[in-house]
Amino acid sequence: MTKRIGVHLGTAGGASNCVERAREMGANTFQFFSSSPRMWRAPQVDPKQAERMRALRVKFDVGPIVIHTSYLVNVCSQTAEVREKSVACFRGEMHILIENTAGSECSLGGSFDQVAELVALLQAHAPVGVCLDTCHTHVAGYDIVSEGGYEQTMAEVGATVGFEAVRVWHCNDAKALRGSKLDRHQHIGQGMIGVESFRRLLNDPRFAHAAFIAETPVDEDGNEESNVRVLKSLITAPPNKAARVRK
Ligand SMILES: [Zn+2]
Ligand SMILES: [Zn+2]
Repeated sequence: MTKRIGVHLGTAGGASNCVERAREMGANTFQFFSSSPRMWRAPQVDPKQAERMRALRVKFDVGPIVIHTSYLVNVCSQTAEVREKSVACFRGEMHILIENTAGSECSLGGSFDQVAELVALLQAHAPVGVCLDTCHTHVAGYDIVSEGGYEQTMAEVGATVGFEAVRVWHCNDAKALRGSKLDRHQHIGQGMIGVESFRRLLNDPRFAHAAFIAETPVDEDGNEESNVRVLKSLITAPPNKAARVRK
């Protein structure tokens, strides 16, 4: 199976352009917003765009495609109006994955336990899976940097949400310290998590089925390409293949 590596992309000029941009930068999966993430407007799917995207995805073998839901969604809001809009918006983007959070005060999903509980409750109503974010995991207090810490953290992933349920890893380095609960993304290899931790994750056979998508900052042109490039450079060939090459 080809490793799926990608980045969050803007949809300027139509969502189907993302497929071509992903291919140009050497990515084979990507994430995007289906509508403005700070507005309640429901996504308008243009059938021509959808058809073009479908054809391009097949042609270039780009997928899975991940939709990041609106920042406004809060299905537990105290305000009835926000709650109703949240449910409607969420329903419009079904198959959505539940992502772990940085675990700041009053936010749910900072621990794998909470994510697993949410998924178990939601699975009765919708086929939800899990998205784990490296930055959120780190600032929520889990150790993914030291070798022993990584193993312990992944054992906890296995025991709570389960490896199979993790469909996407958001690959973001972190500007803040472990346990700081500060959600500030950094370019791969330039933060507190560091390049070796990403190498370990990308080559972890327990996540061979997952897509790895960067949500790193776009400070200047070319940032998306370079983060995809760094992630791809960390993939080592499976051991049996490497052995064959050496012969
Ligand atoms: Zn994320
Ligand atoms: Zn974040």
